[in-house]
Amino acid sequence: MMRAGLGRDLHRLVPGRRFLLGGLEIPSSRGELGHSDGDVLAHAVIDALLGAAGLGDTGELFPPADPAWKDADSRELVKAAWQRVREAGWKLVNLDCVVICEEPQVLPHREAIRSSLAAALGVSPAAVFVKGKTNEGLGPLGQGGAVEALAVCLLEQDEGASREKNALFFTNLEKKA
Ligand code: MG
Repeated sequence: MMRAGLGRDLHRLVPGRRFLLGGLEIPSSRGELGHSDGDVLAHAVIDALLGAAGLGDTGELFPPADPAWKDADSRELVKAAWQRVREAGWKLVNLDCVVICEEPQVLPHREAIRSSLAAALGVSPAAVFVKGKTNEGLGPLGQGGAVEALAVCLLEQDEGASREKNALFFTNLEKKA
């Protein structure tokens, strides 16, 4: 079985914060405001992975009101969410992402971002792609006030895992009957 997942996030950009994309720090005069480290791309990726597996979303797993996640390293959050998805028998086919901001430019850092995300997920960088787009100077994104990220992933559950799960499901049903 294969399932697609979609994730999206946006953070305000302010002076005095780090600018992080997929766990990679990129030199910039402004960075993401957030309860965690604000890594907008990591958060979009978490939502895509959890969504594909039907296992919730970033806010549910890591509530912003919980002090445990204050200044949290979002790459660790990606690892924790991905572990949950893997435990349900899913493998990553591919992950494709878009980052929208006026600056800094994403392209010079693209390969490093791909490697950082791939390492967090334990997959080959070939399975992860990232593109940067500007917002043509329009709106808060275009005026440097925010950064947005979109992520789409495809997950595959191997037949064996599905069969095992089905067998367990029917065994439990029989027990209940
Ligand atoms: Mg976020």
